Amino acid sequence: MNVPFLNLKTQYTNLKSDIDNAIANVISDTAFIKGKYVDQFEKEFANAYGVKHCIGVANGTDAIYIILKMLGIGQGDEVITVANTWISSSETITQTGAKPVFIDIEPDYYCIDPLKIEAKITSNTKAIIAVHLFGQANNIKQLKAICQKHNLFLIEDCAQSHFTEYDQQYVGTFGIASTFSFYPGKNLGAYGDAGAIITNDDALALKMRMYSAHGALIKHQHEMEGINSRLDGLQASILSAKLPNIKQWNEQRIQHAALYSSLLHDVKDLVIPVVRENTKHTFHLYVIRTALRNELQNYLKEHGIETQIHYPVPLPFLKAYRYLNHKPADFPIAYQYQSEILSLPMYPELKKEEIEYVASSIKNFFSKK
Ligand SMILES: *Cc1c(COP(=O)(O)O)cnc(C)c1O
Repeated sequence: MNVPFLNLKTQYTNLKSDIDNAIANVISDTAFIKGKYVDQFEKEFANAYGVKHCIGVANGTDAIYIILKMLGIGQGDEVITVANTWISSSETITQTGAKPVFIDIEPDYYCIDPLKIEAKITSNTKAIIAVHLFGQANNIKQLKAICQKHNLFLIEDCAQSHFTEYDQQYVGTFGIASTFSFYPGKNLGAYGDAGAIITNDDALALKMRMYSAHGALIKHQHEMEGINSRLDGLQASILSAKLPNIKQWNEQRIQHAALYSSLLHDVKDLVIPVVRENTKHTFHLYVIRTALRNELQNYLKEHGIETQIHYPVPLPFLKAYRYLNHKPADFPIAYQYQSEILSLPMYPELKKEEIEYVASSIKNFFSKK
């Protein structure tokens, strides 16, 4: 049996007429940039989250940059983020002129460790970017308390956590503004690059909308210089066609995760995901840990099972951040886990037999140890 890490084709096949119609409508209306399909998706996404504003942008990375920039963050400022995530969190901080300050991860939940934040706060610290990684909610209560105490903005990166819940409230609705990526493999994915920002702050929303479109709300009336980061009509229309299914897709992921966990929980030397209390983890990724990670990954590959690593090198140890002179001891958990974490195949259309095959292959591997 072959189990790919991701399968986007089955989802397309299941929704083919909806998607094909969505694409055809945009083309026949020639509503390629901005226009009614973008307006419609922005409204639908804001409604789904119960927030006042959604601003469609070109991708999830720009979304972070636009928030930071319109919060006035720049040269001389510091922004705190997490050591193990995708580079968007830190590269956008640098792009504004500010300095990224990394914090180690929680041993159980893989999110920023609130207990390690306060020691890194200085008079220059302006914001915390929390990444709800793998679909797991951060410890919002502690993060909010820290932000309130030190007068910092909380920005939530929800690229891997569409409709994840914390205390029965969607993540992405706790901070000043939140970002989404609709990269094709995300829980809600477009057919190309796409992203969005949500916020309840009217003034900030207006500025971000303006900045993302060359600093103009009305064509040729540039109130400032901006960037070109627009959501296009085709992506918006495809996202509108997919949005009604996201909750069901998340439930399928949650069921798949439960099946993996029930089959793997008693494997010695293997750690399965732990879900934070009072949260709904939406399992963008199902990440296990073992000291025999490389060996296990090769074994699974030989048995037709594709896995990935998120991420092979924590941000502070990348060549890009060598100038910060970080040592393994600065981020002991992220450093240890980089050689232990392994992401198993996970997508809504995964079949029960495939999950059972992956689990039994893992068990066979460990039984020979
Ligand atoms: C995918 C991702 C992003 C970036 O999104 P793009 O749309 O690819 O720019 C940012 N943060 C995290 C955690 C992601 O997984």
